[in-house]
Amino acid sequence: MPQATAAVPAALPQIPVSDLAPWAIFSALLAAVVLFFVGAEQGAFSVLEGTLVHEWVHDARHVMGYPCH
Ligand SMILES: [Zn+2]
Repeated sequence: MPQATAAVPAALPQIPVSDLAPWAIFSALLAAVVLFFVGAEQGAFSVLEGTLVHEWVHDARHVMGYPCH
């Protein structure tokens, strides 16, 4: 009968902050763009003409509590 062995925890990789910074900045910018299109892409702040973008993000807009209609 095989004996149970204790699992050895794997060492976590060490990632320098300088390697993470560009990805953190990129992620923050991407999140800001998404947040803009979900929350403010309408009316006076509209970048794209029409209601197509608004219709695409309409459900997310309501889930996040932005005023809509
Ligand atoms: Zn709505």
